[in-house]
Amino acid sequence: MTNIAFFGLGNMGASMAKNLVKAQLNVTVFDLVESQVQLLADAGAKPSKSVAEAVENADIVISMLPAGKHVESLYFDDDGIVNHLTGKALFIDCSTIESSSAISIGKQLKSHGHRFIDAPVSGGVAGAAAGTLTFIVGGDKADFDEAHTCLQAMGKNIFHAGDVGAGQVAKICNNMLLAILMAGTSEALQMGIDNGLDPKVMSDIMLQSSGRNWTLELYNPCPGVMPNVPSSNDYQGGFLVDLMNKDLGLAMSTAANNESVVPLGQLAKSIFQMHGNAGNGRLDFSSVFNAYKHG
Ligand code: NAD
Repeated sequence: MTNIAFFGLGNMGASMAKNLVKAQLNVTVFDLVESQVQLLADAGAKPSKSVAEAVENADIVISMLPAGKHVESLYFDDDGIVNHLTGKALFIDCSTIESSSAISIGKQLKSHGHRFIDAPVSGGVAGAAAGTLTFIVGGDKADFDEAHTCLQAMGKNIFHAGDVGAGQVAKICNNMLLAILMAGTSEALQMGIDNGLDPKVMSDIMLQSSGRNWTLELYNPCPGVMPNVPSSNDYQGGFLVDLMNKDLGLAMSTAANNESVVPLGQLAKSIFQMHGNAGNGRLDFSSVFNAYKHG
């Protein structure tokens, strides 16, 4: 049976690894935070105390880490995965990182005889928990096909965007749009509230009108409008402002690569950056709604 080593059991990775276990796949897990490893052990995964222990006999390595520097360090540091793997493996990185970093990682792994695909996700913590994530994959078709069983256990829509790095480009385009939509939706809702409207009524109206979008449908930023979303839970959990700021930084460098014109992306980046700098970095990104409130 295929052995999977899973690294990074945070807001997203914990649920993703649980879904692999539910699909009866053979999963060994590791995170720097011991309590997260225990959480997964309770769910039926094999816990490990070190990188070396986690990759023993691994055929597939999956990582779900904050940023590119974490992935490079986990893979290539002296105590990193490549220095402990005895056989050859398929690496699947689901983190959102620079496309150039994914390409460089792919080349380095190839030089060690391993294979690599970038497979960033969309769908948020709810999608991770429900196993309905969208995977946006860059890599060889044969590796994409080999990863399918794993990805299917964690997601619903699985796209092959192109060569290694292409998954990250598509993901970053999507997240720049998401930031613009979240800021715009917050702005419109707050303007309605400022003019005496009930945000729930406003949301219902816009949901059936031309302003309809993903944030209104599934992730309303105004507290109390929708149950089970971060805005109704003091903006805890979900997708951190810090991570959205990281993605908007990636969007700006992606745009710079080919001189793409991204004025709304730049504005969204400034809005989220000011919001993060004001001490909100660890809140869910929908908390940008608060940036539009009167003092
Ligand atoms: P998170 O900060 O909640 O989790 C990251 C986990 O990685 C932490 O548990 C941390 O301890 C662990 N980690 C860091 N370095 C490690 C190492 N060397 N070895 C093992 N574990 C290590 O982040 P998250 O929200 O789960 O996001 C993970 C990635 O997914 C990010 O790249 C993010 O941009 C992307 N993403 C997040 C969401 C979301 O809604 N949260 C949605 C789509 C994509």
